[in-house]
Amino acid sequence: MDRPVRVRFAPSPTGPLHIGGVRTALYNYLFAKKHGGDFILRVEDTDQTRFVPGAEQYIIEALEWVGLTFDEAPHKGGEYGPYRQSDRKDIYRQYAEQLLESGHAYYAFDTSEDLDDMRKRAEAAKMSWKYDTVTRQSMKNSLTLSQDEVQKRLDANEPYVVRIKLPRKEEVRFHDEIRGWVVVSTAQMDDKVLFKSDGMPTYHLANIVDDYLMKITHVIRGEEWLPSAPLHVLLYKYLGWKDVMPKFAHLSLLLKPEGSGKLSKRDGDKLGFPVFPLEWKDPKTGEISSGYRESGYFKEAVVNMLALLGWHPSDNRELFTLQELVEVFTIEKVNKSGAKFDFEKAKWFNHHYLMEKSNDELAETLLPTLAANNITMPKDRVAIVCGLMKEKVQFIPELYTMGKYFFTDPDSYDEKVVKKKWKENTTAILTQLKEALATMDSFTADDVDKTFHLVAEKNEVSPGSIMQTFRLSISGVGGGPPIFEIVAFLGKETVVRRMEHCFASLQATL
Ligand code: GLU
Repeated sequence: MDRPVRVRFAPSPTGPLHIGGVRTALYNYLFAKKHGGDFILRVEDTDQTRFVPGAEQYIIEALEWVGLTFDEAPHKGGEYGPYRQSDRKDIYRQYAEQLLESGHAYYAFDTSEDLDDMRKRAEAAKMSWKYDTVTRQSMKNSLTLSQDEVQKRLDANEPYVVRIKLPRKEEVRFHDEIRGWVVVSTAQMDDKVLFKSDGMPTYHLANIVDDYLMKITHVIRGEEWLPSAPLHVLLYKYLGWKDVMPKFAHLSLLLKPEGSGKLSKRDGDKLGFPVFPLEWKDPKTGEISSGYRESGYFKEAVVNMLALLGWHPSDNRELFTLQELVEVFTIEKVNKSGAKFDFEKAKWFNHHYLMEKSNDELAETLLPTLAANNITMPKDRVAIVCGLMKEKVQFIPELYTMGKYFFTDPDSYDEKVVKKKWKENTTAILTQLKEALATMDSFTADDVDKTFHLVAEKNEVSPGSIMQTFRLSISGVGGGPPIFEIVAFLGKETVVRRMEHCFASLQATL
């Protein structure tokens, strides 16, 4: 009988979560929910030297932000906890001992100087070196030292590690749900460290023990772990857990926009886009890295974009909510090859989700940006601005940066537009228009439209020939939402004042 689906996202808290990590978590979540299974967060912090304060909280906040809810996690608990490996410390030793007893592991006492020395010697001979079935025979371990000697060293608390004892030349095969059959010979592998004398397991042992104890059925993770998978398969075998070994699926990398190599923070910095879900402040250097959330991305856009970076539906559909993804996601449709990060597409998704928001919601989100710029405006008025501007922007803050004239009088006028459109008679015609506007009682967009056309007609010019300069005199820029709507929103007094200010300041330059 098939076991109930249980998957885990198992990050190491060594810094902010890369956006590719969010994708891995997303695919795990989609797979679990599609099969009515559980989605678990396990924090893999056995390597204390790489521990970064705040990273675990960051990971949780980032995944909760995009809407991936854990069924079991360190901050939530669950039947198979604890979910932080440093809190499970006491669990692992017995499995290292089991492997030692069954002859699938051995003690090694080599110091880091010993190992460095071997590596250097191999380097000098232009050879690569690894601790393996051949080299282990000339190292200090329980395979080469006498039993007494080993006991003596252990009794003297001499530092040691426990290494897996690989067979000389054996084929390890497993089926990857994305890549098909993977076959590796143990001759290509090394005797990895499983456990250290400080009582901590390494990633490999802890990962396998926890996946087993937590009844994980599918391991969906990045392809950087593919080389470790054969070792993991052997560990399942040696620990007697082959029958409950999870299925493996290794996801391809998120690639740089130009397509070769892994998407890095440097690419983001260079090309101006975030590679982290949330803003991150490095606790050591204080350096700040931008995040999707703080850059004005909607979580819906981030989810949609990530889902399609490495997975495709059976048709050409592009827009999916998280719930819709749960329904259609399958591992079979995850791409084998790497996915190029496409920043333009990310913005396109954001625009789409921005358009779907109500004007009220947008206003609510814009208010902090306005406050930060010392602008106060009632929320219902801000909502009107959002309604007018949303088609033109991709991000919430742009509702302000591209629509500043809704909030404050312009202090400059786009020179290109002035040069191209401001003709000899423009000031005279627009002055007439200003005077006509000043006498209007009702000031709706339609009323302004009518007045504008009347003035154009009277001067025997086409409305189009003065439209952009009219806009410029009020907003300072040559484009934007429908001008009569802007004028009606600003009101008579402001419009008249702005036109006068424009004429006065352009007079000097014309
Ligand atoms: N701790 C590993 C990481 O940081 C987990 C790899 C796995 O999912 O097995 O990605």
